[in-house]
Amino acid sequence: MSPADGIRKLGFRRWYQRQLIEGHAWFVTCFLCMILAAACLEDLSLRSGGWKAVTTLALIACAGLIGVTALKRYKQLLDRAEHIAEHSTCERCAEYGRLSILSAGGSDAASALAPPWLRVQCRKCGHQWLIE
Ligand SMILES: [Zn+2]
Repeated sequence: MSPADGIRKLGFRRWYQRQLIEGHAWFVTCFLCMILAAACLEDLSLRSGGWKAVTTLALIACAGLIGVTALKRYKQLLDRAEHIAEHSTCERCAEYGRLSILSAGGSDAASALAPPWLRVQCRKCGHQWLIE
């Protein structure tokens, strides 16, 4: 779900809260993968060889791959949510987070090269601005 769809559906404040929860769930996943990889490294014995060593190495590789992916997703979610949150205060009346999405672009696959943007309107005073 794009930020525009999420904000339209939930409102800015609930969307932002859910982005933080989802981002930190990815961070916990990354942390658990690091613990799994460290535990497997401690248990790894290449001298004995056999399937146990191969299985342990495969588990370390999977934990590393999932952990790196989770860390990237965590950073991506939080960077996007923080950027939108920093630009969600109305310049005219200083109301925070009470906004409606007028239009959006750059978040679908067809326009993946263009940076995402949101055209928003303050619900309190009607002032409009662009979040890029
Ligand atoms: Zn306003």
